[in-house]
Amino acid sequence: MSELSGDKVAVVTGAASGIGLGIAQRLAADGAKVAIFDLNTAAAEEAAAKISATGATSIGIGVDVSDRDQIQAGIDIVHEVFGPVAILVNNAGMEGFRPFLKITPDVWNRLLAVNLTGTFHCCQLLIPDMMDVGWGRIVNISSSSTHSGQPFMTHYVASKTGVVGLTKSLALEFGEHGITVNTIPPGFIDTPMTRRNEAKGRLGGSVESHAERTPVRRPGRPEDIAAACAFLVSDEAGYITGQILGVNGGRNT
Ligand code: NAP
Repeated sequence: MSELSGDKVAVVTGAASGIGLGIAQRLAADGAKVAIFDLNTAAAEEAAAKISATGATSIGIGVDVSDRDQIQAGIDIVHEVFGPVAILVNNAGMEGFRPFLKITPDVWNRLLAVNLTGTFHCCQLLIPDMMDVGWGRIVNISSSSTHSGQPFMTHYVASKTGVVGLTKSLALEFGEHGITVNTIPPGFIDTPMTRRNEAKGRLGGSVESHAERTPVRRPGRPEDIAAACAFLVSDEAGYITGQILGVNGGRNT
């Protein structure tokens, strides 16, 4: 574990499950006070309670990241309970599988609203906290599909590629304020999302069969993403910004 200096407050979105939960657990273990923002209020509170039971500090708040007012209301609670936010991990996301010609404008707009515009809202509402103290860390969870493209996932890949562009541009704009902005595109992590897709036959094989074709011969785990995230939000990563840190077992190089 790497110690996070000085009682930092972190917001991790979509952290009631999967990768986000792994990140929240890791940052809390490293000493951050972690606010879990998730669509499902009960699941967010339950995840925070589990983290708090380990002696770390966490609160869970129901927030739909596509709704700017809900994000602001969540931030108001975090400010009251913990204080200003120094670390933001934009992880909340929804998957999308549909032949391109069947993607309706509503489906397209909802996916972009969560995966891309949700990231925009959270960054815009929390960067002022970081500017006030001249230190901040933002990590955006994108997707390894942005390396290669993916059939039947045009809307998803477009949203996540937008997250990569947003990351690079924010890094350039806010570097002088001590704020770093990086993205981790995960590749094939064993989470409830991945298992849901396996059950629906969307993976083109089982999780295990994919693992056999992965250079490191196993599926990724939320802890793998959490470890990279813990490094990127640390003090010692202060000269790393605008970067794409692939965590994918060698599936994309
Ligand atoms: P997951 O297990 O489904 O967890 C995602 C979490 O985000 C869930 O708790 C979900 O809540 C929440 N969420 C969804 N929409 C939200 C919204 N509008 N506002 C707030 N929270 C919301 O998925 P995961 O596999 O951990 O994925 C985490 C991130 O990694 C996503 O951005 C995903 O696109 C990305 N990713 C994952 C993989 C992978 O291999 N697993 C690969 C590439 C990228 P509900 O459960 O209530 O919907």
